[in-house]
Amino acid sequence: MKTVNDFNFSGKKALIRVDFNVPQDENLNITDNTRIVSAKPTIEKILNDGGSVVIMTHLGRPDGEASDKYSLKHIVSGVSEVLGKPVKFVSDCIGEEVKKEVDALKNGEILLLENLRFYKEETKGDKEFAEKLSENGDIYVNDAFGTAHRAHASTAVIAQFFPENKCFGLLLAKELEAVDKVLKSGEKPVTAILGGSKVSTKITIIDNILPAVDNLIIGGGMAYTFIKAQGGKIGISLCEDDKLDLALSILEKAKENNVDVYLPVDTVAGDDFKNDCNIKTVPTNDIPDGFEGLDIGPKSAQIFTEVLLQSKTILWNGPLGVFEMENFATGTKAIGDAIGKAKNNGAFSLVGGGDSVAFVKQNGYEDKVSYVSTGGGAMLESLEGKILPGVAAILD
Ligand code: AMP
Repeated sequence: MKTVNDFNFSGKKALIRVDFNVPQDENLNITDNTRIVSAKPTIEKILNDGGSVVIMTHLGRPDGEASDKYSLKHIVSGVSEVLGKPVKFVSDCIGEEVKKEVDALKNGEILLLENLRFYKEETKGDKEFAEKLSENGDIYVNDAFGTAHRAHASTAVIAQFFPENKCFGLLLAKELEAVDKVLKSGEKPVTAILGGSKVSTKITIIDNILPAVDNLIIGGGMAYTFIKAQGGKIGISLCEDDKLDLALSILEKAKENNVDVYLPVDTVAGDDFKNDCNIKTVPTNDIPDGFEGLDIGPKSAQIFTEVLLQSKTILWNGPLGVFEMENFATGTKAIGDAIGKAKNNGAFSLVGGGDSVAFVKQNGYEDKVSYVSTGGGAMLESLEGKILPGVAAILD
């Protein structure tokens, strides 16, 4: 796996695809610059070598139409602030004007190209468009994990025009290493903790991770389908009735793979999907009529914590309850705390591909986990065992 560390960029123009699809307020000011900060190490490595950087990214969904709203000119100062250097901007991503700016770029300088998605050819993965983009640099670097699951012109198709001179940026490499650590090279015992709303969206992940994990902890709304499948009484909890057999077959497959499965033994249930409803803590398999399970209970949190504290590698995908409501966030917080303690004991933990990332960020749990993925869909597909087009194009 070649990264920017395998190249010397001295005197070279690096054409780097990043994901600067940052959130903005109504005045188009950047409200969260995490994505720019994440790409900084890669850009700095290139500049420190004595190279120059041509940045490509998309912003929003302009659907192939140029517009002021989605112009990257609004983020130039924000990018410059993070990188601590002036950033030049050109109001297109291909063509004569761009060529002039790229040719004039000196070592140590940074040029930001206009929004790639002003061309519909970008998302269509158009080869001619990719070739035109490829003229903007000597070495192609992909550091856009957030779009690596898309076979777009700038994320995948372009790589063929750099047969020898293509590599991963440090962020993308870190994401791939984190997945590899969890699914292949992680120190045992390996524990996956899955939550979120539905079993149906997690089946492929479960299938893919079963051979790699020692323990599988299931919480969140998806747990009740398993409990009902085993004959439990779940009140009006979230349940996919057409997935009961599937839930049983997952449990069977886990057994075949010698995976210990932990389902919640108790549940914090409410009589309405509201923070201030009537709340009861009950056994998960005996939830009263008219009540729905909205969080794992304290006994479950204790059992899950013990498993996590014995784990050396942890994957966390999905919240354990409706964490958006304070009264049902306790279970998810307990799991975040347990992962934090496990980290202090030397465990590696990856949080990715679901609302657990939102939980971690909103509640200041970043320091309690080893790695928080920057790519929702891309991380989900990686955990499903798919080779992402943006990754395959570099490995090819
Ligand atoms: P996902 O995108 O699959 O990770 O699902 C995340 C969502 O699942 C969050 O918005 C949670 O509020 C929701 N969720 C977690 N536990 C439950 C539950 N017991 N009942 C209903 N929704 C839940």
